[in-house]
Amino acid sequence: MSREVRVRFAPSPTGPLHMGGVRTALYNYLFARRHGGKMILRIEDTDSQRFVPGAEEYIIESLKWCGIEIDEGVGVGGPHAPYRQSERKEIYLKFAKQLVEAGWAYYAFDTAEELDALRKEAEAAGQTFAYNYTVREKLPTSLSLPKEEVEARIARGDIWVVRFKMPENEIVEMDDLIRGHVKVNTSTLDDKVLYKSADELPTYHLANIVDDHLMEISHVIRGEEWLPSLPLHYLLYRAFGWQDTQPQFAHLPLLLKPTGGGKLSKRDGDKMGFPVFPLFWTSPTGETAHGYREDGYFAEAFVNMLALLGWNPGTEQELFSMQELINEFSLDRVSKSGARFQPDKAKWFNAQYMHRKTNEELAELFQPILKANGVETSDELAGKAAGIMKERATFITDLWDLTSYFFVAPAQYEEKQMKKYWKGENPARLAELREVLAAIDDFSLENTEAIVGAWIQEKGYGMGQIMNTLRLALVGAGKGPGMYDVTAFLGKEECLKRIDYILTNLKPIE
Ligand code: GLU
Repeated sequence: MSREVRVRFAPSPTGPLHMGGVRTALYNYLFARRHGGKMILRIEDTDSQRFVPGAEEYIIESLKWCGIEIDEGVGVGGPHAPYRQSERKEIYLKFAKQLVEAGWAYYAFDTAEELDALRKEAEAAGQTFAYNYTVREKLPTSLSLPKEEVEARIARGDIWVVRFKMPENEIVEMDDLIRGHVKVNTSTLDDKVLYKSADELPTYHLANIVDDHLMEISHVIRGEEWLPSLPLHYLLYRAFGWQDTQPQFAHLPLLLKPTGGGKLSKRDGDKMGFPVFPLFWTSPTGETAHGYREDGYFAEAFVNMLALLGWNPGTEQELFSMQELINEFSLDRVSKSGARFQPDKAKWFNAQYMHRKTNEELAELFQPILKANGVETSDELAGKAAGIMKERATFITDLWDLTSYFFVAPAQYEEKQMKKYWKGENPARLAELREVLAAIDDFSLENTEAIVGAWIQEKGYGMGQIMNTLRLALVGAGKGPGMYDVTAFLGKEECLKRIDYILTNLKPIE
């Protein structure tokens, strides 16, 4: 690749960023890093009607959470600033006019009512109305009106738009790095609006092409929903005479619903209980949506899962750090067909990352939950408890239920376990075990296990009965890790205290 790789993520701030959008950003980022290039964040906010306050901040925070770093763009700056299209307003009119002058575009003065009437007429005749070569010369446009009339209308402030003059019956040949060679006949395309005098703003198509050109973008990696716009974009590059530096395109496959057909939507998430957005979102009108972050997912797990939704490494490897993704990523391993999202797989990834966390990392994440449950403990013990139980947890929030007995003595005993073990000889045996434990100096897991094991054997007691009774005393339930993990964690004093408590307070079942 001789040209400097410069890619951009160019979201419109119309609401919270969908996980499909995060994936687009991620693939751009991986591609940029893989090729030593630059990742640019451009905010495409020229559609003032769809602008949602807070969406831009949400996008930026989402990328940050995922570890997708921006080299140039909104919030960072750079040689092509500003990177927010609403702040680049003056740039676009000049380019729209350039296209009109070169005969690639024209002014159109028709009103919404006029267009509506034509649409209805076409419908009545069983056709769909298209604003294209068949009508543009019949409507009030700079193609049908005399030059003076056009100038007079503009001068007196009539509302106009600039439309692209889509050629008639021409084959546009395009190359997509994922889809290969694509051909489209221009007669199937309409004359898209490029610029509107009403709000002095360009539409997406014009602003996008102009900015990609000015920002020296080398590769456009974006969602498949933009593939139908590709012929127009090719023709715009041609119309401007920018083919030599035209970026290469890659259109990413859709994210599909977990079951059935179609694109993954917020509704699927609500129905099946998984988030489709990276972060929790509150709309300006107070509607909320779940986010992976607040639902307890690790950013690394979320990113890993997203990376594999549409790309495969060509091996069996599933767990990738960001650096490994950067090393491995290539567009030719992005699939053409849609990628089905599996909520269980997202959980699986989270669990994998949970199992790999060190006690120190776990302590930091677990401490707030311990505090919320009234437990004040050291990071060492918080991490140790979490470390013992992490293999059974998917989310950090699972840890409290899995480890609470390490920090709080049982106040009640699980009925089922009590009925099963707090009877017969077991309470008396527990009293005997208490004395064995009381005599141990080195309360480490291994030493306690060796001494208690030898004692059980010597006495010929049933290992299961003894251990389960001890578990009832220390944990209060049938759950938990190996018993010696518990004794070592609690220490001698606490173990004896809990045993004494149950011996004094819980009446054996007759
Ligand atoms: N603003 C467009 C979007 O929101 C960008 C499409 C593109 O990358 O060209 O998806």
